[in-house]
Amino acid sequence: IFNQVVLAPADPILGLTDAFKADPRADKVNLGVGIYKDESGQTPILKSVKLAEQKLLETETSKSYLGIDGVIAYNQAVQGLLFGADHAVMTEKRAVTAQAPGGTGSLRMAAEFVVRNTDSRTVWVSNPTWANHNNIFQSAGLTVKQYGYYDAASHDINFDAMLTSLENAEEGDLLLLHGCCHNPTGIDLNISQWEVIAQLCVDKGLIPLFDFAYQGFGAGVEEDAQGLRLVASKVPELLVANSFSKNFGLYNERIGAVTLVAEDEETAKRAFSQIKSTIRSSYSNPPAHGALIVATILGDAELRKLWEEELTQMRERIAEMRVLFVKTLAQQGVSQDFSFISAQNGMFSFSGLNKEQVTRLKEEFGIYIVGSGRISVAGMTRANMDTICRAIAKVL
Ligand code: PMP
Repeated sequence: IFNQVVLAPADPILGLTDAFKADPRADKVNLGVGIYKDESGQTPILKSVKLAEQKLLETETSKSYLGIDGVIAYNQAVQGLLFGADHAVMTEKRAVTAQAPGGTGSLRMAAEFVVRNTDSRTVWVSNPTWANHNNIFQSAGLTVKQYGYYDAASHDINFDAMLTSLENAEEGDLLLLHGCCHNPTGIDLNISQWEVIAQLCVDKGLIPLFDFAYQGFGAGVEEDAQGLRLVASKVPELLVANSFSKNFGLYNERIGAVTLVAEDEETAKRAFSQIKSTIRSSYSNPPAHGALIVATILGDAELRKLWEEELTQMRERIAEMRVLFVKTLAQQGVSQDFSFISAQNGMFSFSGLNKEQVTRLKEEFGIYIVGSGRISVAGMTRANMDTICRAIAKVL
């Protein structure tokens, strides 16, 4: 039967990494996948993570299964990061959290849970959005619809277009929102826009589904949660899929969580039983290591402080690279205004480069970026900046 199987197309982002690895050129640069690199081009293990791992190595006594929902202390720590201890959803015990494999696994479990247990079948995602959103939601059985988000001419959000598209959303539809550091545009809602979206969800009965993969990469751990916390204070129900791949550098530990907020504690508990049932039939229970690392760091004042310092360093290095990128492009004789890049948040910059320019960058210069023109600023360093900007100046 396997001879009926047709070849799957390469993943638009991870496929690029395969092509990059196979490229023999010495001065090639991978600005495709969103992985943080330090000034020397490495993706280091955070010191706070290493210290937590040492502690775990000494104290761990068993590799027995975790429960279906994972490490309990971890799930509580996740809620603390998302909402802060004093938020009404915490004091009213309306939030439940299950550890899940990365942001992707968390999104998938959230979507599966909705399809299995509710009448909702539609999710609205921004145009553009992270390419894998479509795959994940369609695989779970949801219909994906797009709302307007990015205005190419102004390199800014087109909030009116967003609202116009969402006029067509119906009660019970999911609304995917990037908690911060929108991927791929780097452009986030401001507080008054979050207010409007929260009210829209209330008025139309939409269920916000937050994809929160970059907490701490925008303005700070607390600052980046403002939109989520505001919406959570207005709407009765929502879902969050968060990831610690980036902010703890735990990419290959596959650690994230799905959090559900219901209108009361009893409903939240009932819903949680179904989230666990969804997990049980998917992978039974999650792996422990990543969750124990995060729980150890967040549960220890000194390690937490160290982690926050390390996260700040990552965030500030990327911000510096944005400024240097704009400056170096100008030095290379690019007359177009790229200053908007300094205003974008997170790992990515939506450059406005077109498909043909992206192809030339790859083929002629060994600079790998995603076809949409999304550049991972986190892969830029002082050492590769001239190479990158010289190549971009040539293709413009
Ligand atoms: N959501 C967004 C917006 C992302 O950019 C990513 C990672 N590229 C994820 C989710 C998935 O994260 P993870 O690697 O933890 O599955």
